[in-house]
Amino acid sequence: MNADQPLIELDGIGRRYKGKRGAPVIALEAVTLRFHAGEFVCITGPSGSGKSTLMNILGCLDTPDSGSYRFAGREVHKLSSDGLAWLRRKAFGFVFQNYSLLGSVTARENVEMPGIYAGLAPAPRRTRALGLLAALGLKDRIGHRPAALSGGEQQRVSIARALMNGGSVILADEPTGSLDSQNGEQVLQLLEELSEKGHTVVLITHNPEIAARAGRRIELRDGRVVADSGPADERHGARATAEPPEVPQPMIGALARLMQAIRSGATSLRANLLGTKRLRAALTVFSILLGVWAVVTMLSIAEGVYRYTVSQVDLLGADQVEIAPRRRENELAITLTLEDGWAIANEVPNVRRVVPRLDQLLPIRYGSKSIEATVEGYTAITIRPSADYYAPQVEHGQFIARWNNVNYHQVAVISWRIQDDLMPTGVNPVGQYVLVNDLPFLVVGVLAGREYFAEVPDWSTERKGRRVVVPFHTAAALLHGTENLRSLDIFMQDPTQVKATESDIRALLIRRHGSEGFSIAYRGEMVEQVGEIRAALWLGLGAIGGIMLLAGGMGVMAIMLMAIAERTREIGIRMAIGARRRDISEQFMLEAVTLALVGGLLGLLASMTSGTLMRLFDIPVFFSPWMIIVALVCAAGTGLVFGTIPARRAAQMDPVTALSMQN
Ligand code: ADP
Ligand code: MG
Repeated sequence: MNADQPLIELDGIGRRYKGKRGAPVIALEAVTLRFHAGEFVCITGPSGSGKSTLMNILGCLDTPDSGSYRFAGREVHKLSSDGLAWLRRKAFGFVFQNYSLLGSVTARENVEMPGIYAGLAPAPRRTRALGLLAALGLKDRIGHRPAALSGGEQQRVSIARALMNGGSVILADEPTGSLDSQNGEQVLQLLEELSEKGHTVVLITHNPEIAARAGRRIELRDGRVVADSGPADERHGARATAEPPEVPQPMIGALARLMQAIRSGATSLRANLLGTKRLRAALTVFSILLGVWAVVTMLSIAEGVYRYTVSQVDLLGADQVEIAPRRRENELAITLTLEDGWAIANEVPNVRRVVPRLDQLLPIRYGSKSIEATVEGYTAITIRPSADYYAPQVEHGQFIARWNNVNYHQVAVISWRIQDDLMPTGVNPVGQYVLVNDLPFLVVGVLAGREYFAEVPDWSTERKGRRVVVPFHTAAALLHGTENLRSLDIFMQDPTQVKATESDIRALLIRRHGSEGFSIAYRGEMVEQVGEIRAALWLGLGAIGGIMLLAGGMGVMAIMLMAIAERTREIGIRMAIGARRRDISEQFMLEAVTLALVGGLLGLLASMTSGTLMRLFDIPVFFSPWMIIVALVCAAGTGLVFGTIPARRAAQMDPVTALSMQN
């Protein structure tokens, strides 16, 4: 761009507003003006003559309805909204009559704000802000909020802000209008100094004294230029050679930009929500807290119930299949024998061991005492070289041995309950004789498992506690009178293969017996059923939690929408100093997500606390680490989802309308 090309070229600019009764209000009409870089222009005119409208158009806050605006040779109307924001950020600095500072942050933070949107790194940004404030005589006011500053001081802060990104064109709309003459004079002198330094200054005033000091005066009336003193040639010439105003460096990268967005989001959150709106912020956080608490608590109860039930089922053995003879509609029950056990053990893959069951309730006598007990015939079915040999553990003595079976020995291994019930303390049961169904049996061992049976409920102790194990063949010949089994317990290597194993066994038995007169029961089925119950619990309880979270999310949305209504002016100011729509929506998103995350963390804590309490009342509650992730994802997701609409609404706001808001 050569020195003769005007910086600003307005050609036939028109701007109309819709009037009250449909009749258009003409704010500007056919305005054609040229401003050169470094000019000090004063625009005067009565109230309502279109001065502010002109300034908004110059500053790219507003777009004309007709005519063309070229800035530094570039057609402004061709720029996108981001492009306009870029221009506002890089080229313009606004100074308004009412200062338009953000009331919730300090003087320094106000001055730094355009630097944030320009992507200036924190350290140079702060240095520059402090330097500008010091240069404007505000060194000891940097930490003050605008409310604690005088009008003159506020206006100087806003000039510092206008200079933050260089401010090569200063647009000042009645900057002295709210100031006393002394403060007004100071502000005016500042603007004159800036002009000396090479800034282009457009000053709007209806004070003729002020206007008289400008290099160039333009008068507006009813939206038209009625007088223009023209460029002050010798001064313009002098200024055109002046150094262009410095633009601060360096800029930052994408990650740092995100960090900055988060930091400025946090600042704005602190300022806007933790300040006067503390109660409201607390309520938002609380509604999310409740939602996350509900989700996490419900899920941990579902998980707790599942785990408790599995542990109960596990006592019975999830790796077990039980085969028993069973009469069907048109088939007789098969006769299950040891040979079936051997066949299954040898032919069906995935079988770890087979335990034949041949048992019966029989009277046991020792001395003068007599009780009833389950008398089991035991034999080992050894399978494959690698398979383990199944034998119950004994506390004292030894277990039934193979030769006991072969020789029909009358030996017995008794449970500790039998020992307790029949024998006086101090008597060693091993070596004693008991009468089983009036036949003498030598006690060779005591079954282990006192602790195990001590833990399970009474009914189980009653049933399982009184056990007498004798050799299988002895039991069949002398006690039960048959070798036909009550059942075969099959233990699997891999319980997940139960379906295949079951059908293998079924096929084998049908082949051997030519009949389906048996049943195969899988204890693991209970685990599967409980798994289904867990899914149902998850769905049901999770849905309740989800609905509460939804309610929390709506709370967030309502509060964010309210905040936007209240902070319209703030949004306008941010846009005037160069915020893109994206910056605005990011800010509101971040606020929503931060609030939601705080709620999520507190909800997690609450649910851990309540879970601990519930455990005291024996409610099964189980927390897994992934619930932390669930909680945070739920919370952040809620914030994101319900922050979107408010954020978008904020970002779509028209800067001029937003700026004209009085809040
Ligand atoms: P000035 O700043 O010189 O007092 P403005 O530029 O603010 O004048 O306004 C010029 C004209 O446009 C006035 O008649 C005003 O009522 C009208 N006007 C300004 N803004 C709006 C708006 N948002 N809606 C309708 N009319 C408006
Ligand atoms: Mg005005």
